[in-house]
Amino acid sequence: MTTLFVSDLHLHESRPEVTDSFIEFLGGEARHAECLYILGDLFEAWIGDDDPDSHNRRVINALRDFTAAGSPCYLMHGNRDFLIGKRFAAETGVLLLGETETVAINGERTLLMHGDQLCTDDHQYQRLRRRVRNPILQAVFLALPITLRRTIRDRLRRQSVADSGIKPEAITDVNQTAVEDALRHNGVLTLLHGHTHRPAIHRFSLDGRQAARIVLGDWYDQGSMLRWDAGGYRLRTIEYGEAATSGN
Ligand code: MN
Repeated sequence: MTTLFVSDLHLHESRPEVTDSFIEFLGGEARHAECLYILGDLFEAWIGDDDPDSHNRRVINALRDFTAAGSPCYLMHGNRDFLIGKRFAAETGVLLLGETETVAINGERTLLMHGDQLCTDDHQYQRLRRRVRNPILQAVFLALPITLRRTIRDRLRRQSVADSGIKPEAITDVNQTAVEDALRHNGVLTLLHGHTHRPAIHRFSLDGRQAARIVLGDWYDQGSMLRWDAGGYRLRTIEYGEAATSGN
């Protein structure tokens, strides 16, 4: 059984080659897998399922075609698209996951997260996270007119770019203690996440046993995915344009 994992595509109309590549990936390699997981930040921003944005509609249609062809697709919220809701799920056929999920992949119990909740050294971000995940605040935001939501989104994006430029690398990476606590709490030895845009497979000892933390890459300069089949898992990159020519 082949399962594919992606995260941090940050799809946005300003990077059409990324959206094209993802849609080609859905119609090609992903269609031949048994299952696809998207572990957050599929979109650069999400201001409500009622946004008529034509770029986002294109992605919704491609996901609907993908799930209609029979492959299950699971989606986890990221810190950019946590407002994806039930209407999106109904329109795409995608199944929404909680913010931490333990699933068995080829017999290996694996903890899935977006990963932002593990960046506990970034106190400023964790404060912001608690605020924006407040359900009352979210309901108020979603009730605003779409034009006002777009204005707020653009202001937050500019602030986020400005903040990320001045933070040291170590602050914005995951905290190892938080990683180990999450593994112990869920009784697993393998963690798979995105968010940090630092693709790697980290192996370490946890209470005398071998543990692994697999980090998915982003889709800025190239695509990134984890392919996990009976032979094990490996991180792979997708060159833009490649998906179009290797669609079978
Ligand atoms: Mn993220």
